[in-house]
Amino acid sequence: MKRKILIIYAGGTIGMQASEKGYAPVAGFEQRLRAQLSRTTGLSELPAFEVLELEQLIDSANLQPHHWTELGGIITAHWQQYDGFLLLHGTDTMAYTASMLSFMLQGMDKPVIVTGSQIPLAQLRNDALDNLLTSLMFVAGDAIPEVCICFNGRLLRGNRASKLKSSGLDAFDSPNYGWLGQAGINIELHAERLLQSGTADFKIPDFNPDAVVILPVYPGISARIARDLLSNPAVKGVVLHTYGAGNPPDANGELMAELDNAVRRGVTIVNVTQCLQGQVSQGAYATGATLNRIGVIPGSDLTLEAAFTKLHYLLATQPADQVKGLMLQSLCGEMTQ
Ligand code: ASP
Repeated sequence: MKRKILIIYAGGTIGMQASEKGYAPVAGFEQRLRAQLSRTTGLSELPAFEVLELEQLIDSANLQPHHWTELGGIITAHWQQYDGFLLLHGTDTMAYTASMLSFMLQGMDKPVIVTGSQIPLAQLRNDALDNLLTSLMFVAGDAIPEVCICFNGRLLRGNRASKLKSSGLDAFDSPNYGWLGQAGINIELHAERLLQSGTADFKIPDFNPDAVVILPVYPGISARIARDLLSNPAVKGVVLHTYGAGNPPDANGELMAELDNAVRRGVTIVNVTQCLQGQVSQGAYATGATLNRIGVIPGSDLTLEAAFTKLHYLLATQPADQVKGLMLQSLCGEMTQ
């Protein structure tokens, strides 16, 4: 049976055109795509698709938390009418959106694949058409009950993926989780790595953009800088971006006191590593053990993007006393427990 797919075009390089100010997203993506496809053969292999274009197309560098609510709302509003969804999105914040969608669409039973490109479809030499067609094939194939990023022939779990290259066409990878599939001469799916579909528990909340902040540690970080960030009453969650196995500069007692004060005020602090591969082992070093005493949550091998969106999601949907326990659990394959 042929599947029916909804393609949602949200912006990003894939549909951009050159302007005086540089590349910018341009409306009318469906027309341009269908015109391009009409010049190729083998179209019968493609699933039937419809295209929905957002009214306000964005360069995803301008993504705001309200865009997650909008995108999640569009997908859930159309959930029953389609067999799968392909979201065309800018690459800069693609991993944030894919992660957030995975939390909002827990228990999903059909694929939501996010893709984009490094070179616009409008250019003669581009990665846009290949990324789009490969993604469409994955959406139309076996049921993949996950939010994925499909890019340069790699199918990645969305909440495990990060943009690792600014100009390479192989821009995305998931260093802490094996690829879910890959497209070479054949399209292969690693079914044993996929999530099982569950009972749909979709929650599309509104977000307070100030609720979650990222605090990176770096040589010289001062308690004053941290205090400015943490003392804002709107801040309810912090992703602490530490060195190596989860180590902060604990010799800075004032800085540690600021973290301690924030935890006592009820702010949830999650520790993730600045390393691209591996996980936080809070307490392997005495420096990291300080965070255990303070009550900072070890974030295992969460990506920065997954930690940030998970905190936003939980703070927007759960009672405050549930957030810590849920941060320690893998909700949809985002971390190793
Ligand atoms: N700045 C663009 C965006 O994120 C980059 C891209 O799509 O590749 O929308």
